[in-house]
Amino acid sequence: MYDAHPIVDGFPGKTATHGSFGWSSVWLLHDGDSAVLVDTGPPSYVPLIVHGLAAHGLAPADVTDVLLTHSHWDHVGCVSMFPRARRWIGRAEFSWARRQPMDVPFVSQPLLAALGEPESALRLIDGDGEILPGIRACEVPGHTPGHVAFLAETTRGPLLFVGDAAKNVRELGARVIDSALDRQVAADSITRINDIASGAGARVVPGHDVLCSLSEDGWRRERAQTAQMQFHHRRDEEPLVIAINDRDPALVSVRSSDAIES
Ligand SMILES: [Zn+2]
Repeated sequence: MYDAHPIVDGFPGKTATHGSFGWSSVWLLHDGDSAVLVDTGPPSYVPLIVHGLAAHGLAPADVTDVLLTHSHWDHVGCVSMFPRARRWIGRAEFSWARRQPMDVPFVSQPLLAALGEPESALRLIDGDGEILPGIRACEVPGHTPGHVAFLAETTRGPLLFVGDAAKNVRELGARVIDSALDRQVAADSITRINDIASGAGARVVPGHDVLCSLSEDGWRRERAQTAQMQFHHRRDEEPLVIAINDRDPALVSVRSSDAIES
């Protein structure tokens, strides 16, 4: 049974002018023998992961397994941090991603080359099934062709890590899909995620959101969803806090942290 902790909570943001933030979810599952990371975030997460692991008495070299939901740069960006870890990714996903030209959005060939080296550490997932004790892979394609979710038995109860098959609580519940290579297949996968979660009694960690649970009113975030932003030329000032209105995820407010805390 794994203890489960968010290392970085994902945030469902992108800009109108500068692409994706890539602020994805990274979680740690550990049981004393194994230390398993679910996704690794974008390359900018290196210090967050070092700090987050240290809070649990771990270093990157202690990570035994990295589970990758899919091949996008904001999920595989830190895979080279873990010299001892096996890297798990869908066989169909890795095969598809490695064939893409350099101008395909969100697919980074240098990061994928790093993911595939050394080959002895690569574990390609075929179909559904248990890949590690207490962790099951489930195919949920559509966002990308070989996208995989992971259902883990944890001391918090079953948790289903769905990556960008459902990037946020809105996609999970309202099934409004923002980005998918195949929208119909992606919609079918969100239905499958709901079926798996209800069958297992699992809560869900979306690819760019906090832990979500199912209530009578549908899927809800278990806590407030915020991010903080600072500007290099105004480092002395309080960061801006970007807060999402949980009753309407389309509404976002930007305030100083003082205003949020008061
Ligand atoms: Zn993605």
